[in-house]
Amino acid sequence: MYSNLVDKYIPVNKFTKGRSGNKVCKITIHHMAGNLSIESCANVFKSPKRKASSNYGIGSDGRIACYVDEENRAWTSSSKWNDDRAITIEVANNNTKKWTISDKAMESLIKLCADICRRYNFKLEFTGNRNGTLTRHNFYANTNCPGPYITSKTSYIVKEVNKRISNASSGYSVGQRVFIDVPINVAWDGKPGKSLVESNGYQFWIHSSVIKYIRKQIRIYGWGTVVKKYSDDLYRVKIFDDEFDCRPTYMGLKEF
Ligand SMILES: [Zn+2]
Repeated sequence: MYSNLVDKYIPVNKFTKGRSGNKVCKITIHHMAGNLSIESCANVFKSPKRKASSNYGIGSDGRIACYVDEENRAWTSSSKWNDDRAITIEVANNNTKKWTISDKAMESLIKLCADICRRYNFKLEFTGNRNGTLTRHNFYANTNCPGPYITSKTSYIVKEVNKRISNASSGYSVGQRVFIDVPINVAWDGKPGKSLVESNGYQFWIHSSVIKYIRKQIRIYGWGTVVKKYSDDLYRVKIFDDEFDCRPTYMGLKEF
């Protein structure tokens, strides 16, 4: 099982099945110590000599890969105890002198952490030791991981992740209106198949067929769902989430 935020599933055969009966209750953020794409990180894990893996990897382009399913223990943190309890995430460094990570990688990291916290029902907390829900590789081994940059961003990451968890659990119920801005004639700039839209502080996946349908309705009938006209070409419309099977991403439902 893996997060629906994943862009690419690249299973790596370096893990221990199960978590010795432990529930996921921690996250460990690692850095790759290199600017590896999610694919090249998988290749490193796959190389025969290497006895390492992680549940997830994030590239500098912000793409997220799953290497080891969440129900299994990845070999990441030099600690069976930690990896039995933690979902581990390797993040690419876009600069290997200052060990920074890109803004895109940071955003994906925060999203992924929030998604994990929601699904396993815990908040992110850094206590400086293994008791917190956010742990570090260097608690368990003589390593620089996760590096000075990620380390300096600890309180930012914790704050952002917890903010997004509490936003998402602020009493959302299915059947709400979703407001989306729909261009009528120009090409829909979302990815083919699905698009992420924000409405009322929630994020929704919307299938491009829904957008197409709405555009057609407006073109033909000047549909009553239009709540705001920006121009002849751009309208704000409201739809109901259950009518079009849109769901906030935090509800953990599979994307289309
Ligand atoms: Zn590490």
